[in-house]
Amino acid sequence: MVEDGVDQTHVDAVIKSIHAVTQIAGVNNALQINNFGVWRSHNWLNSQDQMTEWNSVDWYIEQAQVHGRHKQLHGGHLMKLLWNEPWQKMHAHYDIVITKQDLYDEKCNFVIGLAVHRFGTIISTNRFLNLESEVARECIVTEAMHEIGHMFGLILSTRTQCVDESLGLHCTNKCIMRQGLSVPHDWLVFTEDRLNGFSFCDLCTRDLKRYFSK
Ligand SMILES: [Zn+2]
Ligand SMILES: [Zn+2]
Repeated sequence: MVEDGVDQTHVDAVIKSIHAVTQIAGVNNALQINNFGVWRSHNWLNSQDQMTEWNSVDWYIEQAQVHGRHKQLHGGHLMKLLWNEPWQKMHAHYDIVITKQDLYDEKCNFVIGLAVHRFGTIISTNRFLNLESEVARECIVTEAMHEIGHMFGLILSTRTQCVDESLGLHCTNKCIMRQGLSVPHDWLVFTEDRLNGFSFCDLCTRDLKRYFSK
């Protein structure tokens, strides 16, 4: 689902990333992808025009604002809501949220994205918004592929080769699963590499395929 006001080309970039990752993983037709867009259920507002719980992307974002700080969403809180939502119990699914606001989590003053293995990811476009539009779009593709990679199990805790612990396990190859703490600089580098044919390295590609073969 998508926060109201996110640039449509950025939404398209994330959807393109989902297809790219599932294709590399060899499961491009096995997963059903539903774009809920700016999701609002028919009863998202009550008779006093107040938002009802769980019934719109606006509500999730507002909760992350209330639990967040000035101009930043609390990413961890938003993830917890996704984890506990009634929709998950009704129909288990991967959750992907796209926001244009800046995110932070307990350990960092900001993050461009958050992901939980086997569950979901929150992707913020915020730190790329000042870039030239084409460059911003490509960086968002790189970032989304990275977070979706985490969502699909990367980096395996059992991996011993070319691995680094930096706010979670990351790859040390020429690969989009590298950690990029310098934003946007590192992501411009990863994006250039990706456009030159280096998206997931051989090890990450292997683990991505294994994730779906179990
Ligand atoms: Zn990461
Ligand atoms: Zn890798």
